[in-house]
Amino acid sequence: MESFDVIVVGAGAAGMLAAGRAASRKLSTLLLEKNRLAGKKLLITGKGRCNLTNDCDVEEFLRSVRTNSRFLYSALSRFSPKDVMDFFEALPLPLKVERGRRVFPVSDRASDVVEKLSSWTRRQGVLTRTETVKELWLEDGDLCGVILADGRRIAAKSVIIATGGVSYPLTGSTGDGYRFAAQAGHTLIPAQPSLVPIVTKEDYCRKMQGLSLKNVTVRVVDPKKKKPVYEELGEMLFTHFGVSGPLILSASSHMDAGRIADYRITVDFKPALDEEKLDARLLRDFEKYKNKDFMNSLSDLLPRKAIPVIVKESGIDAETKVHQVTREQRRALVSLIKHFPLTPAALRPIEEAIVTSGGVKVSEVNPKTMESKLTPGLFFAGEVLDVDAYTGGYNLQIAFSTGFLAGESVLQD
Ligand SMILES: Cc1cc2nc3c(=O)[nH]c(=O)nc-3n(C[C@H](O)[C@H](O)[C@H](O)COP(=O)(O)OP(=O)(O)OC[C@H]3O[C@@H](n4cnc5c(N)ncnc54)[C@H](O)[C@@H]3O)c2cc1C
Repeated sequence: MESFDVIVVGAGAAGMLAAGRAASRKLSTLLLEKNRLAGKKLLITGKGRCNLTNDCDVEEFLRSVRTNSRFLYSALSRFSPKDVMDFFEALPLPLKVERGRRVFPVSDRASDVVEKLSSWTRRQGVLTRTETVKELWLEDGDLCGVILADGRRIAAKSVIIATGGVSYPLTGSTGDGYRFAAQAGHTLIPAQPSLVPIVTKEDYCRKMQGLSLKNVTVRVVDPKKKKPVYEELGEMLFTHFGVSGPLILSASSHMDAGRIADYRITVDFKPALDEEKLDARLLRDFEKYKNKDFMNSLSDLLPRKAIPVIVKESGIDAETKVHQVTREQRRALVSLIKHFPLTPAALRPIEEAIVTSGGVKVSEVNPKTMESKLTPGLFFAGEVLDVDAYTGGYNLQIAFSTGFLAGESVLQD
């Protein structure tokens, strides 16, 4: 029977770092991946450009972690965003920093990240194979290795589970790691979507389907709290079911999935203009188009697809001549453009979430090593753990840091 020092299950961001780091310590390391190629999810990150980390310090980073940030302190200190950037630059994979300190490869190709990581693992001596792990091989609670889908057993002194969450299951993350963790007695925090599109009650989103807005502000208010729970300037998208795009995905992770219908979302179509300035701007446009119908007066101000919706919601008859629009009607129109309402009905399913929240309960894992506190020799890394963060490169950094720490800690005296 084959035997290794370390078996890593899952060749995503976390698994590749874990395997490479373990092998660099001269441990015989087998990396098992059910897909024919490694890093299938990595390929679709950052819209195919891979936002691989965020160029910030650890304290700042932790403020962008939504769940269990303190648990990540050791992993992020050991392999920080700066370390990740140095690591990739040395591969070599030249990087660039964009708005919001998001870090991308200069080539804008996620495939370069996967290729460089795969060849790095090979150079460290990792043996990678296409195999699906069915379960952990445990005897009387002791970890002996893994059992493959066809029943074969492979022995190992240690196993690192890096199987991801349950989002985008076509990439291979189908929650298998949760089963393995449960086998070893671990508690699982129920999986929930995080960074996910939002279904809205209003039918007008469907009418604006495909409209992508840049430089708008999205604000989310929880009526139970006085302050908005989310307010950000950026990009969003209308879809057939509601809304998506970077701002909406981020907003979703600030909302409690269990009472999603309680929140109120508003979009400010013109954040650069306060109400007075917008009113003055409307007055100028109305002067320019004074003999036109109201519905034909907004094309300088708003995107084409939004105009019929704004006209209808304004309550002003579309065929009213512009010079007949009253001051009150114009004031109400200003308010509509600055506080365009969206009522959340539901989050889209977890399969469509960028990240899975929930997973292996972190209090049962040693944050300094990523080793299970219940089953010696068993380690966890990446999204399989109950950690998740906002958009901006944070989730991949978590996968890299926890993977690196697991690979460094495994079989350490
Ligand atoms: C569309 C999209 C865009 C994203 N963009 C970004 C971004 O730009 N920046 C960012 O920071 N984060 C981004 N994320 C999130 C980020 O991709 C994940 O958080 C990260 O990839 C998790 O890494 P992981 O290694 O833990 O899991 P995964 O990348 O999911 O890897 C797990 C691997 O384990 C394998 N596996 C599972 N079960 C088994 C088994 N039984 N046997 C063998 N192999 C198995 C899977 O096939 C898979 O390859 C994005 C996510 C999505 C869906």
